[in-house]
Order: sequence, then structure tokens, then C-alpha cells
Amino acid sequence: MAEEQTKTIRTTCPYCGVGCGLKVTQRQDDAPVIQPDPDHPANYGRVCTKGAALGETLDHDDRLLQPQLRGRPVDWDTALDTVADGLRQAIDRYGPDSVAFYVSGQLLTEDYYVANKLMKGFIGSANIDTNSRLCMSSAVAGHQRAFGEDLVPGCYEDLEQADVIVIVGGNSAWCHPVLFQRIQAARERRSNMRLIVIDPRRTATADMADLHLAVRPGSDVALFNGLFRYLDDNGYADRSFIDAETEGYTSARDVCAAFDPDRVAVDCDVERQAIEDFYRSFAEHERVVTLFSQGVNQASSGTDKVNAIINCHLLSHRLGKPGCGPFSLTGQPNAMGGREVGGLANTLAAHMGFEADNVDRVRRFWDSDSIAGEPGLKAVDLFNAIEAGQIKAVWIMATNPLVSLPDADQARRALSACDFVVVSDCMATTDTTQYADVLLPAAAWGEKDGTVTNSERRISRQHAFLPLPGEARPDWWIISEVGKRLGHEQAFDYRQPADIFSEHARLSAFENDGSRLFNIGGLGALSQTEYDALTPRQWPLKNADDTGSARLSGVTDGTRQPARFVTTMARPPVHAVSAEYPFILNSGRVRDHWHTLTRTGKSPRLSAHRDEPFVAIHPDDADALALQENTLAEVETRWGRLNARVRRDNGQRRGELFVPIHWNDVYSQRARVGALVNPVVDPLSGEPEFKHTPARARPV
Ligand code: SF4
Repeated sequence: MAEEQTKTIRTTCPYCGVGCGLKVTQRQDDAPVIQPDPDHPANYGRVCTKGAALGETLDHDDRLLQPQLRGRPVDWDTALDTVADGLRQAIDRYGPDSVAFYVSGQLLTEDYYVANKLMKGFIGSANIDTNSRLCMSSAVAGHQRAFGEDLVPGCYEDLEQADVIVIVGGNSAWCHPVLFQRIQAARERRSNMRLIVIDPRRTATADMADLHLAVRPGSDVALFNGLFRYLDDNGYADRSFIDAETEGYTSARDVCAAFDPDRVAVDCDVERQAIEDFYRSFAEHERVVTLFSQGVNQASSGTDKVNAIINCHLLSHRLGKPGCGPFSLTGQPNAMGGREVGGLANTLAAHMGFEADNVDRVRRFWDSDSIAGEPGLKAVDLFNAIEAGQIKAVWIMATNPLVSLPDADQARRALSACDFVVVSDCMATTDTTQYADVLLPAAAWGEKDGTVTNSERRISRQHAFLPLPGEARPDWWIISEVGKRLGHEQAFDYRQPADIFSEHARLSAFENDGSRLFNIGGLGALSQTEYDALTPRQWPLKNADDTGSARLSGVTDGTRQPARFVTTMARPPVHAVSAEYPFILNSGRVRDHWHTLTRTGKSPRLSAHRDEPFVAIHPDDADALALQENTLAEVETRWGRLNARVRRDNGQRRGELFVPIHWNDVYSQRARVGALVNPVVDPLSGEPEFKHTPARARPV
């Protein structure tokens, strides 16, 4: 009898930006066994409920397995020719800016790179934006203002070495569970380590905090401007560091001077004593990490919130050293990789913007004569332009904007009105696939090869361990085939993902005199075998023998430009509550679901945690509206309505509602919270104000 073959591969989880390593073991024809990787530095053998249930989500139910043209199955050549013809016709007739790509933090870096290169480098428009606009772009803009580049200066180890962890606008226990497990394990080892949570809701994370500030939504700038003043007034400013390595201190100080603790207490609607407790903890401990997430980013003042946090770390020189720093937590598995290739409409490639020298540099590297010369439309503007008829053809990849965009009914109108809609997805039935002229079956997690970057700048390999089902193909291949059909045979002549990664790495190093810290040129000449064996490592990786950098030197060490204090203005959310809409609607994730349920919805044990849309409301507010536990409520805003199960929740502030983001109209009619969200955006980052829409509720 032949000896049984067991195959083991290492890959990463397809869900959140923690980027946990997984070990997949498969014996001949048995189902793969997916376990946490004990050697991956993101998780060291830990996993959360979502990662642990991945094996239950690998079936092909509702998979898109063949290209379709207006609902009719077609072969790949027909589908790809149709996509190329549709794009070409729009470009020839209306110019390059009449086409757009809307992509996703679910794509692998290689897919993302090719999509960005095709649109910006060869179609000649920068109308490619990503769903990372919806969750991370305020952090990107904040980093760029403070550091001149989109940099996360620290690493996960800092969370274990800190004496104080501050979590702002994030429910890490549910949304970044393995990182939170690491924090909790460190707290068990070091009893004096303090956890402070700043969040309007008393979440599972806040429940475990030493101090919870249930601030008024949108008041974070006031809170951190007040912290700046406290640190400055009480001798915690590091003058020699400020003088040597920063600029802009004086104007930031002048603005923050107005934020005394009494004012902050009023602005934040929190007791002065609790505010001062937070300020003392930050001031009196050298090692402080401030983790921030969507509660900070998803606001019309999101970029200022980010900079208000960074300002405090710059002032006290609490960054670039073990156990301290501002730390942006990424939502999606490859939002960071997408940022690195230039997947946002306002970046070009490899952390370069649209300055003339960068445009010329990338043009020469790509050998293109039609490169985009200026930023394109950000997500909300892009869908407005589709509805207005300025964009005639759109290609949506690996995302479901009809659920996830704010004012999601506008996105539905936009796709209904658009001349030519292409959707690449692994699922057949989503709110968005229903509007596609051409549907392209994409490979799913476990079926494709490439790389991702997690929240601490760590690049890891994802490996295929399943065969491609039906006619499904990797996104990089699909995009490259369209690029070739548009006449760019040589530029898109990739044989495998390793070719693309190598080109991306070489571009990051191309004419890079050190002014760009994103440099992975050391990986620019990997053979296929070396690419396959690539172990997780943090950039920069300038040389072939670099093993990575836990903390970024060069952020504030005077070798580049000085770090910048930014004057941050406390301003309220754009739409205030009113007599007609007296509640503030907030939205976010639940513990065991991911995005629009296409994968986690397949697992009964994940669905058991929360199995339907709900609205969380303070019991006193519920009483006033006659909303009983488990009954149905209608939640309505100026933009839309949904029905959800009532959960009376003491952790809600009075006057505020919380609805999860996951459910959609494929699940049931009127379940999309995105349809209720105001389409207001931060003027710098373009990130929507998901956390604050005036709303009302009533029994159904
Ligand atoms: Fe996956 Fe995030 Fe859970 Fe890690 S923490 S297993 S990356 S969902």
C-alpha cells in the first residue's frame, strides 16, 4: 500500500489586519486541517474564533465558478474581450477618466499592484480607489502629515512592553482578538500594566479596562488636545527631541492651550476626575502605546483625530522606542499592502505621490507613455461621478460597495445608471454582483498565492492549498489578461505572482535615496523558490540579507525630514441630532462575523454568536420608545431605513444607537446599515463619517 502523503503549508488568516499565521495540514484527499502557526510572529500559535472556524467555510456554495455576460455563462476569452472592449470604448470616446476601478483590502499585494499599474500607469487615470478608503484613509493622511509618509512606527511587541495601553475608538477584544489576547497575557504577567479604553460604548474591550472614558462621539480631538496641554504644562515635553527632530510645536501648543481639563470634561461629557486620571497615566509612564482604529478614522475630523494622538506622542517623545508609540490598527487583511502599492486614488505607487518627479520616476520604471499625472476620485466622489454619468465604465474587485459604502442606495443608483459594470468576485450572489454586466470568477483565499502586509508592516506569504474550482482564476491573472488585450502585452506579461512581487519590490527601491522609508528592494530578485520560502518580515528591507525592522528608525531620527506637529481643531460631526432625528447612529463589527458574511455566514458556530441584525439601545431610551428586548425596531435616517432586533444595552450612552455592519439585502430586505449612513467625508482623507448619523427608531 502506498505511503500516505501529508502536506503542510504556512499561510495567513484572510480576515483582520492582525495577520495571524496559520498552518494548513492536508493528508491526501482529506479536508485540510487549519491551525494557528506557532512560529508566526503576529500570533505565536494563537487564533480567534473566526480563524479557528476557517475550515468550516471552504465549501463552494454560491461560489461564482464561470464568467458571465449579462447573466449568461461564457468562456474566459469572451468575458475578457468584453471587458477590454468596454473599457476601450469608454476611454476612446470620453477619455481615461471615464473609467474607474474600485478595489479592496481583501486583494493580495500582487493583485493590487497589477490593478494599480493598469489604471494609473497604462489607462492613464488615477480613478482607482479601494474600500480601505472607508476604514484606514484618515490614518494614512495623519501619518503623511506627521511623518511625510504613511508609516506605522512600532510593532506588536510594543503592546506587550508598554506600561500603559490606550485603545481609542476600537473594540479590539472583538475586532483584533489575537492582539487583544497578547495584551491580556502581558497584563497577567505584569500586574501594573494599565489598560485605558476611550470609546462611547462600553464594549467587551472596555469591560476589561482599568479605566473607560465613555466620551461623547466625535470629541477625541478635544481629549488629546487637552492631553497635549497637560503634558506641556507639567514638564513632560521632551524639549531636546522637539528642537532637534520636529517642527510645528509652537502652533500646536497655542491651539491646545485652550483645552483645560474643565473644557475637555464638558466637550467629552466625561467627569474631569476620569480625564485627569487618563492624563496622569499617560504622563507618568514612559512606555505608552495608543492604539486607534475605526472610531478615530471614520469621522469628518478623522485625520485631525489621528494627528492629535500623534502630537502627544511626539511631544513626550513616546515613539520609536520599545513599548511606546501611536499605533493604527488596520481592519482588513491587506489594507497595508494596498497602501504600499498605491491603491488609494491619491497615491501613485510605492509610497510615492503625484509630485512631478515621482510621476516621471514611475513612468520611466513602468516604461509607460500614458501615466496619470494627478490624483483620482476617492470612493464616495467616485460613486457620485458614476451616478452623474462622468464615469462610464467601472470594474469592482473583491468588494461589495452596495453594502459597505455610506448612503449605499446612492451606490445602487450609480451602478444602475452606469453604462458598463464589471465585477470580479468569488461569490455569485451579493448585492453588487446583481448589477454586473460582466461577472468574473476570482480565486478565493486558500486557492491563490501572494503576499499580504499586516498592521505592523509585516509582509507574509499566503499560499494556495486548494485547487482552483470551476473556471475561477487569480485576480492578478484576470487583470493582466485585460491589460494585454488593451495593447500592453509586455507590461502585463506576468507568469506568476513572484514576477509581480519582484517588480513591486524593485519599484520601491528605484531611485530611492532614503527619502522613502518604504523600501523592500532587498526582495527584488527573489527566485520562485525563495519567494515560496519567504518568512514573515517587517519592512524596510533594503538589502537581500535584511531580516526586518521592528521599529522604524528614520521616522524621527533626523535622517529624513523632521516629524511634524499638526494643529488639530476640535470640531463636531457635520450632521447634528435634531428633534426629528434625535439619536446618533454608530456602526461597527461583531465578534464572529466578517464584512458581508460571505465566508463567516457559512459557519453555524460563528453565526450562533449573533445571527441577525440588531440595534443596541440604552434601556432608558428603549423604554421611552416602547422598544422591548428582542422585538423588531425600525431605524431610520435621512438616507435610509432598516429593521433590526432590539438589544437593550446598558453599555450604550443615552441618545446613541449601534447597528452592526455585516447584514445585507441578500440576507433579508432592509438590512444594510450602509444605506442609513450620511455620506459626509473627512475633507483631507475622504473617509466617511460612519460613526455619526442622526437617526430615529420606533417599534415595527
Ligand atoms: Fe484572523 Fe484576525 Fe482572528 Fe488573527 S485575530 S485569527 S487575523 S481574524
